[in-house]
Order: sequence, then C-alpha cells, then structure tokens
Amino acid sequence: MPGRHFLFVPGPTNVPDRILRAMHVPMEDHRNPTFPDLTKPILEDLKKIFKTTTGQCFVYPSTGTGGWEAALTNTLSPGDKVIVSRYGQFSALWTDLAQRIGLDVQVIDEEWGTGTHPEHIHAILEADKEHKIKGVLVVQNETATGVTSDVGAVRKAMDAAKHPALLYVDGVSSIGCIDFRMDEWGVDLAVAGSQKGFMLPAGLAIVGASQKALEARHTAKCARVFFNFEDMIKSNATGYFPYTPSLPLLYGLRESMKMMFEEGQENVFQRHHYLASGVRAAVSAWGLKNCATEPKWFSDTVTAIVVPEGFNGADVIATAYRRYNLALGAGLAKVAGKVFRIGHLGDLNELMVLGALAGAEMSMLDIGIKIEPGSGVAAAQNYFRSSNSVIANAAE
Ligand SMILES: *Cc1c(COP(=O)(O)O)cnc(C)c1O
Repeated sequence: MPGRHFLFVPGPTNVPDRILRAMHVPMEDHRNPTFPDLTKPILEDLKKIFKTTTGQCFVYPSTGTGGWEAALTNTLSPGDKVIVSRYGQFSALWTDLAQRIGLDVQVIDEEWGTGTHPEHIHAILEADKEHKIKGVLVVQNETATGVTSDVGAVRKAMDAAKHPALLYVDGVSSIGCIDFRMDEWGVDLAVAGSQKGFMLPAGLAIVGASQKALEARHTAKCARVFFNFEDMIKSNATGYFPYTPSLPLLYGLRESMKMMFEEGQENVFQRHHYLASGVRAAVSAWGLKNCATEPKWFSDTVTAIVVPEGFNGADVIATAYRRYNLALGAGLAKVAGKVFRIGHLGDLNELMVLGALAGAEMSMLDIGIKIEPGSGVAAAQNYFRSSNSVIANAAE
C-alpha cells in the first residue's frame, strides 16, 4: 500500500522517526558499568513528566495494566477496601483487576460519557468515620468514552473529608499529553504506559509513587514478585534493574522525553487542546454528538463520536481501514457499535488530523450516514486558521 498508514487509535500512537532511530540500537550488557548513565537520568526526567519532586518513578517491562497491578499490590492487602469511579471500559477493567487481586471494591457507577464526580467520593469518604477505605481509584482520561476528569478536585474532596486513603490515578492516556500534577494534586500512585503520550511502542508500565505510597509497601500484604517496589528500589538506586530491561524502549523513552522537553511540556498540552478542538469542531459540523456529555468532560487526547441511530460504528471503522488505510478506534463494551473514536494524541499536527477527519468523513458517507461532504474538514480548517497556532513549524 503506497503512502503512510494513518494511525488514529488512542494508542498505540505514531512513533516519531527520531524515536524509531533512537531505538535502533545493538543490544548491550544491562549490567555494564556505564548503564547507569542511561537509566539514572531517565528516572529523574520521568519525575518532571509526572510533576513530582518528592515521589519516585518506576519503569517496568510491562503495559499499563501491569502498572495498575504494581500500584495496587505494593500498597494494599487482600480484603482492603477501595472505592473506584467507573464510567468506561478502562475504569471497568481496573475495577476488575482490583477485585481479582482480592480487594474489597466499592464501585461508584457514573453515566458513561461523564467522569469522576468528586462530590460522590466526598460523601462516601465522609461517611467512613473509621477510615476503612484505604484507596480511591480514578481514571484521569477514560479512553473508551473520551472523558477527562478533574483529579485536583478529587484531592480537594478527599481533603475536605479529612480522609487518609491513598489516591490512585490511571493516567495511561493522559500523562504526557494532558496536564498531570502528581505533587500538587497529592496523587499517591500514578500509572502511565509507553504507547500513548510517550509515543513509544507498547512495552513499558511507568508508575509514580509518593512517599506515603512508598511507606505503605511495608504493611501491604498483596502478593507481588515481578512488580515488587522493594526490588526496584534496591536496583534503581545504583542505576540497574532487578531483571533485564527493554533496551530499545529505554533509549526510546530517553528520546521521547527529550522531544517533550524541547517542545515544552505546557506547549505539548496546548497542542493537544488545539488539535482536539479542531476535531470537536468537525463533530459539531457533521451534526453528530460527542460521547462526552458536556464540554467539561471533553478529552484532549481522544474523541468518541456517536453514530446516528440505525448505523454501526464498526462499519465506519472497517470502511476507514479497508478503503482509506485509516485506523480509527472501536467502541468498547457498553458503547460497542454506538461510537467510533479518533485518537488525537502523541506525535500529531494539523494536517495529519485533517487527513483523519477527511477519512472518517468519507467512511461515514460510504456507509450512508447523512453528513455534508467536506463539512467536518472545513470546520476544522476554519478552527485552525482562526486560532493562533501552538505548533512550532519548520521555519522556526
Ligand atoms: C490503554 C489504557 C490502559 C491499558 O493499558 P495497556 O497498556 O493496554 O495495558 C489503561 N488505562 C487507560 C486509560 C488506557 O487508555
């Protein structure tokens, strides 16, 4: 197939050529004497990405799911009570994992298309006078519905209830693209993965832990071996890992963070907001609905678009893939068939987004969805042209 494949799923995302080149390395002994020169700066730079000076970051050869497990098993014991807000397939999967490792999980079900309601968390914590609840689990960016929740507001709700539970945040599809402030928001465990905002292949789980979370490992009794913080802490202190790390991914991670710092973290967030706003302008022009029910929930990394009654989102995705070489995200679980998703995170600019919008538009027309040809693309073009670009161009 000539030309580039258009990858617009919300992870894995496009790997920039710079990162591909950085990962193209011969293997080396991961116990060699200069290895810490690679790993120590990576572990320090991750703290800047997570915005923590007091916490510690861990890198596991794993995926986001492993990060969930590491965060919970290192800090909790079987039977410990946690509460989790559930409003999409990822918060549902984290809930399932928490149950399967033996935690006592109280689920706060929210309408899909909305996110965490801090007032619901506050009410539950306030009623828990004996402090039986040990953890509050929140997915910052629910990738299934394109909903972003306000983590700072969750911290405020926890503080208002004067509750000592640990705050666990899934930032897999947000950290590195949407603002995340581990220290300021008092996040105790933060989970990221390599294949979304970090613009890498899948294969790394990145976990941030606060001092309070690290303290909790001394009493936590959940079984853990591969994910044990203790082993990581000991090895990382000297710049090594307790087992064989993925060398290409470490070199890639170093390059990825270099790119983020060169662009400027705040500029990266602004670029995501700007590109997402172009996508949202297209959705409105098509006369279609965003699965996120209100603007305050809109995600800057992924948009789930509700297909009109009588159509199946899977047909839009299949047409886009087969006919136009464009990968769009599927609707998952409760919203299967009802939505298709455009991932707009990572290494992207305006024209790439316009290409995806054009492909989505043609695919919808091909299966008979009545939208005005060109309307979404034009709306996004108008949005981009009338806004100040936040994207550095080649002339700069
Ligand atoms: C992708 C994703 C995960 C799962 O990560 P894997 O790397 O597939 O294990 C978890 N949470 C969110 C919000 C995600 O987007």
